Amino acid sequence: MKSPPKPFPYPLYVTRPFLPDLARYQERLASIWSDRWLTNKGRQHDALHDALRSFLGYDNLSLLNNATQGLCIALKALDIQGEVITTPFTFPATPHAISWNNATPVFADIDSRRLTIDPQSIESVISPRTEAILGVHVYGIPCDVEAIDQIAKRHGLKVIYDAAHVFGTRLNQTPIGQFGDVSVFSFHATKLFHTAEGGCAVSPSPALIKTIDLLKNFGIEDEENVSAPGVNGKLNELQAALGCCVLEEVQTELLSRQRVLSIYQARLASIAELELVRIPGEASNSLQYFVIRVPSRVTGISRDYLHNALRQLNIVTRKYFFPLCSTFPHYRNSLSVRIPLPKAESAASEVLALPFHGQLTDDEVHGICDAISYLMTK
Ligand SMILES: *Cc1c(COP(=O)(O)O)cnc(C)c1O
Repeated sequence: MKSPPKPFPYPLYVTRPFLPDLARYQERLASIWSDRWLTNKGRQHDALHDALRSFLGYDNLSLLNNATQGLCIALKALDIQGEVITTPFTFPATPHAISWNNATPVFADIDSRRLTIDPQSIESVISPRTEAILGVHVYGIPCDVEAIDQIAKRHGLKVIYDAAHVFGTRLNQTPIGQFGDVSVFSFHATKLFHTAEGGCAVSPSPALIKTIDLLKNFGIEDEENVSAPGVNGKLNELQAALGCCVLEEVQTELLSRQRVLSIYQARLASIAELELVRIPGEASNSLQYFVIRVPSRVTGISRDYLHNALRQLNIVTRKYFFPLCSTFPHYRNSLSVRIPLPKAESAASEVLALPFHGQLTDDEVHGICDAISYLMTK
């Protein structure tokens, strides 16, 4: 491409929330109105709970008001108080949930190919105070769950997964939330499946989900017994109803995202100056993000240059995840940062999430690819 691309007349955002058919949502609202039941396990909550259990393939599932609260509750349910080994290459909620529980996040480095927490690096920061590992399935790439499981068994540690990016992911046919002690999904508006705000916890252990159910409802056992210092982590009826409607149409959104992904892959794979972040073959693609890497060895063109130049063309990309959590003032000079994190640093300086959602037209995606080709090769 020789002539510079023209800016889009409107901004192309990295994501747009999926909105289901409004009439279907209004039908569910009408039923909430006639029930006069707005929260605390109403009909919409129970409908979403059942639909998600069968859609995702989990027996034990607890709906929550968001994933951050869910991580806090999951750590509490496992009685984690000491050190939790986690990744710095994540959304701030991951280490914050540990900190909020008065436990100490300890950052391990990532695997430079998968971008998820590196098992060898986990072993290098295990101490007598280590109680758990909190891994993140970054962009839908599963953590090395088997290696993590072995380390956990060897050292008697709990395993928690931040599953915000892996709605629907299966690893060799097994639903991803079957690994570890507990996994927490986010249903935030920017996630593929959403309830505006919301989330859920799943676990192979029915007893653990029972504890989470208790802790998300103030620890109230029954009318006369409050057996634990719980919080309020409940998902209300209006949001559960939205989730029911989104779930009915999620297949449409997945197909549309698959179309966008195919164009990106066909157009961008040939640009030698870029790397595409790919989901390994043993996992299904959650289609949550589409991320490229601009390796710093490429002289002249940096990730930041590409990000800014695309912004001038009304293409809004995100440096997701930059900055690393280990650089936040609360963590950087603390017991949380004990080893150098060079692979996480290099990933954070090279990744760029491109606009990725089902409402993007083919022409818009081609326009984004034209702009990237022009900027990377001119
Ligand atoms: C979105 C996200 C969260 C936070 O989820 P909320 O439901 O907004 O609390 C946590 N971790 C990761 C990796 C996320 O992408």
